[in-house]
Amino acid sequence: MRRVRSASTHDPALREPQGTLREPPGAIEVTLLGTGSPIYINGRYSASTLIHAGGEYLLIDCGRGAGIRIHEAGLHPGNINKLFLTHLHSDHVVGIPDFYITGWFTTFARRQGPLRVWGPKGSAAMMRHLDSAFDFDMQVRAPEMRVQPNANETRDIGPGEVFNEGGIRVTAFEVDHRPVAPAFGYKIEYAGRTVVLSGDTRLTEAVAEHGAGADVLIHEVICGHKENSPDPEAFERIIAHHTTPQEAGTVFARAKPRLAVYSHLTMITGATVEDVEAQTRETYDGPLLVGEDLTRITVGDEITVERLR
Ligand SMILES: [Zn+2]
Repeated sequence: MRRVRSASTHDPALREPQGTLREPPGAIEVTLLGTGSPIYINGRYSASTLIHAGGEYLLIDCGRGAGIRIHEAGLHPGNINKLFLTHLHSDHVVGIPDFYITGWFTTFARRQGPLRVWGPKGSAAMMRHLDSAFDFDMQVRAPEMRVQPNANETRDIGPGEVFNEGGIRVTAFEVDHRPVAPAFGYKIEYAGRTVVLSGDTRLTEAVAEHGAGADVLIHEVICGHKENSPDPEAFERIIAHHTTPQEAGTVFARAKPRLAVYSHLTMITGATVEDVEAQTRETYDGPLLVGEDLTRITVGDEITVERLR
């Protein structure tokens, strides 16, 4: 892993929305847009990851602030017309109205054609209801802006290959986030590179299996101190839906990615990033990056990491 100079949001290229950013030839570019959880944390919005490969943008989940982070990354929501949902917990989907609607009515970088969405059972119904919920806004804005609102084409998917276009292949695999079922992780392959996202899951064999030998394995994590919890029973219940740093470390140790990354950090009862790192090191000693919002990871012959803010 090579760290390069952090880009500044004062760079002109990052201030104004661009049609597209530079193409990483033969590489997969991963931008962590939101690395937090449902809890409000300054500087960490909720789950959303942008994949850029082969001239295509794929958005994986669309949590709180996704549209803002897309803008801060130098793009506009209208540049993106493919959205893959891991599951329908609110912190993975609450950014959709902003992303969806702002993408079609603006006069620049307007989304052409429908927003295509892939997600677990319930996704098509959610998107249909979203159209109903924002019908008033569409009726007012569309004639005013002299544009047609985007439709959405949403597919409720099962595990397996869900997308294969332009050399980019996306495979959904089932993870264990009960009582949320189904919930998916995603494997993205392009030009011999592989990026795997765990989605939300407790310790699950499937992530190590699908993440084996990946260039980048992005895992969720939860970290807390039970002794600080005012409600130890609730603490145990929340922890049980997710993966602890020690557990994630065992997944990384088995999968042996070129770079292990944390995103979707749920830190409760006073836990810190330092706790997450230290507890991971009890079970894993390979390359590890604790993601922050607007961390960009370019996966080519070498893996580079930049901070966009
Ligand atoms: Zn969840």
